[in-house]
Amino acid sequence: MDIRCVSVYCGSSPGRDEAYTGQARVLGRLLAERGIKLVYGGANVGVMRALADACLERGGNVVGVMPKHLVAREKAHRGLSEFRVVGSMHERKALMAELADGFIALPGGVGTLDELFEVWTWGQLGLHGKPCGLLNIASYFDPLVAFLDHAVSEGFIKAVHRDMLVVAETAEELISRFAAYVPPAAGK
Ligand code: AMP
Repeated sequence: MDIRCVSVYCGSSPGRDEAYTGQARVLGRLLAERGIKLVYGGANVGVMRALADACLERGGNVVGVMPKHLVAREKAHRGLSEFRVVGSMHERKALMAELADGFIALPGGVGTLDELFEVWTWGQLGLHGKPCGLLNIASYFDPLVAFLDHAVSEGFIKAVHRDMLVVAETAEELISRFAAYVPPAAGK
C-alpha cells in the first residue's frame, strides 16, 4: 500500500511522561524525511504541537483540520503548511479520513480514542481499506490492547477485525507495517 499521507490523532495534553511528546517528535521527523504528508487536528498544544513542530522543522508538509468553534479558542497552530477550517467535529473526522492513506493514534484522551475508534469502525464495515494503528509509546496503550483482546475472547470483536489494528512500538515499525497492510477480504 502506497502511504503518501497519514492522519494522526493525539492528545491536546502533553501527558505525564516526556516520552509521549519525545516519540511524537520522532514520528513527525520520520514523516517529513519520508515525504509523507501529515494531517492532524491543527492545535498548538500537547502531543499535537510536538508532532506538528517536529515535522515542520524537518521541512514536512503539515495540514491542520479544525472546526471553527475550536479555532476561536485560539489553540490553532499558526505555522502550518495548510489549515482547513470545517463546520463541525463530524466534518473534521470525515475530511481527515478522506485525505489520508492511513490513521495513527498516539497517546491521548477521549478525543484521540473517539477519532481512532470511528475510523477503525469504518474500516471494519469495509467503507475504506486503509490501515489504522497505535504507536504504543511507553506502553501507554497496553491496557487498551488487553481490553481489545478481552473483547475478542468474550465474542464481541472478531479476531480478523482486532487484527486490523496495527500496534507498533516505534514510528519506523508502524510506517513499514502500514506499507505492507492488506485489509480483510470482506467487511463486517
Ligand atoms: P484529546 O485526546 O481528548 O486530548 O483530544 C485530542 C484529539 O481530539 C485530537 O486528535 C484532535 O483532533 C481533537 N481535539 C480535541 N481537543 C482539541 C483542541 N482543543 N484543539 C484541537 N483539536 C482537539
